[in-house]
Amino acid sequence: MNPFENPPPENPTIDLLLNTIRERRPNADLTMVKLAYEFAAEAHKGQIRKSGVPYLLHPLCTAIILAEMNMDPTIIIAGLLHDVPEDTQVTIEEIEKNFGSEVAHLVAGVTKLGKIKYRGIERYIENLRKMFVAMAEDIRVVIIKFADRLHNLHTLDYLPPKKQYRVALETLEIYAPIANRLGMGEMKGQLEDLSFKYVYPKEYAWTRGLVEERYEKREAYINEVRLALERELRTDNVKFISLSGRLKRLYSLYQKLLRHDKNIEKIHDMIALRVIVDDIGDCYAALGVIHKLWRPLPGRIKDYIAQPKPNGYQSLHTTVFCEQGQIVEFQIRDEQQHLNAEYGVAAHWSYDETEQRDGSRQIKWVRELAAVGDAMQRLKDLENLKIDIFQNRIFVFTPKGDVIDLPENATPIDFAFAVHTQIGNQCAGARVNDRIVSLDQPLKSGDVIDIIVDKAKKGPSADWIKFVKTNHAKSCIKQFAKRSLADWIKMALPSRGN
Ligand code: MN
Repeated sequence: MNPFENPPPENPTIDLLLNTIRERRPNADLTMVKLAYEFAAEAHKGQIRKSGVPYLLHPLCTAIILAEMNMDPTIIIAGLLHDVPEDTQVTIEEIEKNFGSEVAHLVAGVTKLGKIKYRGIERYIENLRKMFVAMAEDIRVVIIKFADRLHNLHTLDYLPPKKQYRVALETLEIYAPIANRLGMGEMKGQLEDLSFKYVYPKEYAWTRGLVEERYEKREAYINEVRLALERELRTDNVKFISLSGRLKRLYSLYQKLLRHDKNIEKIHDMIALRVIVDDIGDCYAALGVIHKLWRPLPGRIKDYIAQPKPNGYQSLHTTVFCEQGQIVEFQIRDEQQHLNAEYGVAAHWSYDETEQRDGSRQIKWVRELAAVGDAMQRLKDLENLKIDIFQNRIFVFTPKGDVIDLPENATPIDFAFAVHTQIGNQCAGARVNDRIVSLDQPLKSGDVIDIIVDKAKKGPSADWIKFVKTNHAKSCIKQFAKRSLADWIKMALPSRGN
């Protein structure tokens, strides 16, 4: 078995999709899923992917990925239809007529997100991430977009090198960090590893080589440790669901190597042992058993159960001196924590409608979104989770495509100061979407703004203060007014030089 790759199905069929759903949701009604497949087949008829296969296989694979993530049929249907409005004659209205407003809303969201492109300007990268989440409006749209991207990465070889690089870089810089913040560990890992080889080919080959050299030996060793722990847990009557080795993801291993002098000997969790137990009490009991067997390294016990990571991740970690003095990391968690660690916010839709989730637990994922922005919306009913923490923000572009994040009703002056104080100070006019506008005109999300600069201008006009919205612009204008008053007084006063 190849521990590195997780390729999409070679011969995806509608039956594979239906069976994948049935395995996880025996009671699901698949009538609409079949209809959506036929609808997509008709819409994409005659279209071919760059790889030479019928286009339909792409939305089908996207839907299979979503089904594997245990998503509900609504999300899977939207996955099947996600490229229809963008790439065919069929409109969103027709999708709405056939599949209802919820599916139409999800498909429209995915289409909208497709327009955000990262061109490699690092200064504004955080804004682009914010814009991505804000434009999605609904977390389910982000999940579908991730599945879509995952399949595109699997077939990236068929695109020209320049496009490969752009898509992979965008995935590393925008998609993966968002997946991480949403607690979707599995998705983040796959997105990163698939992009890694296109963005940093040499580093990818080097990291992979290191792991391949050690993998077999280390795996055999971890297996022995696993058996020893299994025996001891049984002796001590600590129930467990599974013990298994997990191979660290290549990109995350590479990142860690960079922090440790590129020395693989310093990395103790290339393969870690994962212990899944019934409940939190058993987590601590299992930790006790491990520490009884092997001496822990000082300072390496991490209780992410009592103190979860900002993205909601919960687990106990410990690193111990194991058999033959080798160092091994253990990760211990219960099933629910494991599900959350793999799927994050998506774990919410991975339950049958019949099973009710604990609402307070879900709030964590919402809180996580606060890390993306600064406001937070507490929502009880996550089925209706909308990403409206950015409701009062707009996202506009510089002519070069940088994204600037501003409050609602911000003006070209606010924009100018957000880009650079000097541009604000010398602002003489503004073009919005190629049309000259007045300096107090409120901007809208998606506007492209070009500030006309007058190099001879010394500073901002004092009356701009009446309409600017950002504190930054206000303080720049005030500061200049203060300074020019001081300058004026200095000039007006006779010199007292001695
Ligand atoms: Mn697509």
